[in-house]
Amino acid sequence: MSIMENIVSLCKRRGFIFAGSEVYGGLAGTWDYGPLGAMLKRNVEGSFWRTFVDSRTDMYGVDAAIIMNPKVWEASGHVATFADPLIEDVVNGKRYRLDHLLEDAGVDDVAGLTMDEMVEVVQKRKLKSPDGNKLGEARMFNMMFTTHVGPVQDDESIAYLRPETAQGIFTNYKNVVDTIYPDLPFGIAQVGKAFRNEISPRDFVFRSREFNQMEIEYFCDPGTWERLFEAWVADFHKWLESLGLPKSKTHDLEVPDADRAFYSKRTIDIEFDYPTGRAELMGIAYRTDFDLGNIQRASGKSMEYTVKGTNEKLIPHVIEPSIGTERLIMAILCSAYVEEGDRVVLKLPEEIAPYKMCVSPLLKNKPELVAKAQEVFAKMKKKYGFVAWDDNGNIGKRYRRQDEIGTPRCVVVDFQTLEDGTVTVRDRDTMEQVRVEINKV
Ligand code: ATP
Repeated sequence: MSIMENIVSLCKRRGFIFAGSEVYGGLAGTWDYGPLGAMLKRNVEGSFWRTFVDSRTDMYGVDAAIIMNPKVWEASGHVATFADPLIEDVVNGKRYRLDHLLEDAGVDDVAGLTMDEMVEVVQKRKLKSPDGNKLGEARMFNMMFTTHVGPVQDDESIAYLRPETAQGIFTNYKNVVDTIYPDLPFGIAQVGKAFRNEISPRDFVFRSREFNQMEIEYFCDPGTWERLFEAWVADFHKWLESLGLPKSKTHDLEVPDADRAFYSKRTIDIEFDYPTGRAELMGIAYRTDFDLGNIQRASGKSMEYTVKGTNEKLIPHVIEPSIGTERLIMAILCSAYVEEGDRVVLKLPEEIAPYKMCVSPLLKNKPELVAKAQEVFAKMKKKYGFVAWDDNGNIGKRYRRQDEIGTPRCVVVDFQTLEDGTVTVRDRDTMEQVRVEINKV
């Protein structure tokens, strides 16, 4: 089995990530977090919030509705252009993303090609579908999920599930300015669900149809964006490293002019070397005043910011760091996963490990040890929250089980504990054991 298959299997076996609606045969592109995955996700998103909101003085958070007025997506350009090129196998009707099909066929620089140019490549190279059949006409496919708001289902009631969290920030920019009066530059962060009807979800959670985003819009004076952009790139690299992603596996891709959205003056994609190949983990884009300008035009409401002191009015420009929780969790798991002989270890940083520790009695059939261990367990749970209890099998097996889910330490209560109040603490990474007083664990 490949490393990626081992990781996917571990995620399922130990309750990190399950296929969505699995009992009913699943639903492509959807995933459910199990008890350990839910904890890991909370810890990762918590780390984002602590790092980029709580510990700074220029950042605020919002938590906006997923279903927004459809005018949002008209003004942002999503209704007209949030689409991927789709092509169909004319024999079995299977649908593919045309740009992915070309990439898989080894065509260079696909991102820079227009739809017509991609079709031309298909014809010139006489490309077939992965099943060896003829390919049909290509067309653009809009990736937004539609729904209807209220009891009447007509064109008037159409709404979209948000394909990004960013617009929930932009539409609240004025509310934040009018309630908090922040000095420029300042930023607004949001963490939440996003939905994209991807043509072909693939690579585990990497390309899902329902996923989570952690996004920031950082509003600034247009004259200052270059320096701030660099600072955001550096801050994100530092954070990714703190989550265990090795520097050698993250790469800045300076997105060339031809591949960038027309309004963006600079975009860096931070790519990660996944076992499935190098791919986009996150993006940092300088979006000028495109979004606020659109909202001002479409809503007729001023998006101007009045600079304190000078009373100068301007529409702030924006730098947008955007990262998907699932792509990050996949990068974290791939970085932490180590096979050492017969031992599998998830070397997760303590801050994000689901369980902070595991408590167990050395022997299960000694009531006095079990009682003492339960007392220690209750104490640790009160102190650290998510703490595991394990009294199954022998101690070696318990260590292996905790290694596999990334628990940084195992605390074992033995006969000496009853005498002098010390426990054995075993470290996940070094496997070293030390005796520590219970109160000092
Ligand atoms: P891609 O080119 O891989 O489709 P994108 O450039 O469309 O991604 P953005 O619109 O920049 O992605 O979204 C910001 C971030 O959201 C991405 O960097 C990624 O981390 C995450 N993301 C986007 N699409 C998905 C998806 N289908 N599944 C999981 N995460 C996603």
